[in-house]
Amino acid sequence: MGKEVKEYTCIVCPMGCSLKVELEDGKVVKVTGNTCPRGEKYAITESTAPRRVLTSTVRVSGGHLPLCPVRTKGDIPKEKLFDAMKEVNALRIEAPVSIGDVLIPDICGTGVPLIATRNIYKA
Ligand code: SF4
Repeated sequence: MGKEVKEYTCIVCPMGCSLKVELEDGKVVKVTGNTCPRGEKYAITESTAPRRVLTSTVRVSGGHLPLCPVRTKGDIPKEKLFDAMKEVNALRIEAPVSIGDVLIPDICGTGVPLIATRNIYKA
């Protein structure tokens, strides 16, 4: 594996610091460019085990809208996004739905729930 340098823009806050991560044999040895410790944590996670919040929509029947916006309540491993989307696409829900309703308690075995982000009223 050897030495490697990766560059990222930190997305933890709007400052958008430019981060540089030096890795040796896949392990982080140095992070520079971060203005605060949260940036270092983000750089380490992003370069070794990246995670993302999934946002999408789910089909809903009997509601004032045909689709309900959803997201994972926290981030999940990036490599699970594809399988998580399959679970989301297969899901059908019934109105009414309230913001924060848990639609899938443990998406793809990540321990993270999928929640509704909009109220859907009965039509
Ligand atoms: S390093 Fe800190 S200050 Fe810079 S973007 Fe990330 S969270 Fe914000």
